[in-house]
Amino acid sequence: MLDVHKIREDFPILKREVNGKTLVYFDNAATSQTPQVVINAIVDYYSNYNANIHRGVHTLSQEATDAYEIARKKVQEHFNAQYTHEIILTSGTTHSINIVATGFTNFLSKGDEIIVSALEHHSNIVPWQMLCDRTGAVLKVIPMNEDGELLMDVYDTLLSDKTKLVFVNHISNALGTINPIEEIIEKAHKVGAAVLIDGAQSCPHVKPDVQALDVDFYVASAHKLCGPTGVGLLYGKEEWLNKLPPYQGGGEMIDQVTFEKTTYAGLPHKFEAGTPNICGGIAFGAALDYMNSIGFDNIASYENELLEYGTKKLLEIEGLKIYGTSKNKTSVISFNLENIHPYDVGTIVDKLGIAVRTGHHCAQPIMDFYKIPGTIRASFSFYNTKEEIDALVEAVKRAKMMLS
Ligand SMILES: *Cc1c(COP(=O)(O)O)cnc(C)c1O
Repeated sequence: MLDVHKIREDFPILKREVNGKTLVYFDNAATSQTPQVVINAIVDYYSNYNANIHRGVHTLSQEATDAYEIARKKVQEHFNAQYTHEIILTSGTTHSINIVATGFTNFLSKGDEIIVSALEHHSNIVPWQMLCDRTGAVLKVIPMNEDGELLMDVYDTLLSDKTKLVFVNHISNALGTINPIEEIIEKAHKVGAAVLIDGAQSCPHVKPDVQALDVDFYVASAHKLCGPTGVGLLYGKEEWLNKLPPYQGGGEMIDQVTFEKTTYAGLPHKFEAGTPNICGGIAFGAALDYMNSIGFDNIASYENELLEYGTKKLLEIEGLKIYGTSKNKTSVISFNLENIHPYDVGTIVDKLGIAVRTGHHCAQPIMDFYKIPGTIRASFSFYNTKEEIDALVEAVKRAKMMLS
């Protein structure tokens, strides 16, 4: 089992004060906090072997290259990809999605269809709209119900031989719903469509197995799983990555360059033009090591406990409504107080040292569905405690008193 008080010692930031109170950090769905081992990996890199990779013969460059490629191997093992070269290190989820969305320009024609879900983050909507604009393909949306669950019977009716691509997030960042991605992938493959799963929100809670899922592309960001910002991954099946054209041209991604013709490097370098986030990649590996040392089963069961406790305590507040009530959800609670703007609640709660997110959470279509301007979102991580949830409940009660 998980010893939360010991774990909290690993995160220096959890000791700081905000507005005279000990920080309570409940904005984990936006970015997670960073444990000392990951901070140490960053300091070690810049203190001891900062150098550009892949090109140098000198010792520092070789050490940096080795560390970066070891990190790639760790990512491969974590996601259980078949080959290391199926792991493209990118600047994050958004970058990864854009590599695929841009690459698919070559494969789509007018009238082809792309399916996304009603639960998507903006970064998983806009690139597909741009792709549709370029190709004449049509965007179809799997709708959701009041609980924030996808209507899978409607999904069945959207699929056809026109469907070329399906894009769904594994877990919704706004509501915490866990989507039935196994079923989504299997049904898409039956009509010959490729599937990209956005795992930005699931990777902090579960350990995906891309081979077992048989998914074509899987993307995530390190900064939501205890790693630094500016680095993430694009997993793609080898055959897809070979078919996709490069996204950016530049150094590192070439084989031979003349002014007449350039040939591209093999995988994964074809998609890694320019100097990558070397330190970030290495720290990403350290973050995966750290999370695996705690264990994803332990993380999931503890976070579930927090979710149940938080849901029960918050619902005791009269006039509080929770959005996203699927049985299948992670430790994200999106809520509002009757007749009070979420921003006003967030401001008062911050004065009491508690970090929650307010707004549309980059998922405006979900807010439109519920006809609300936004929500207050508390997202819990394995380093949070029930005492912190009690503090949030007290703060929300206080906000309610002051604002109504
Ligand atoms: C955070 C998030 C993204 C965007 O990730 P970036 O790191 O900002 O690129 C995309 N999808 C979901 C579901 C997210 O939670």
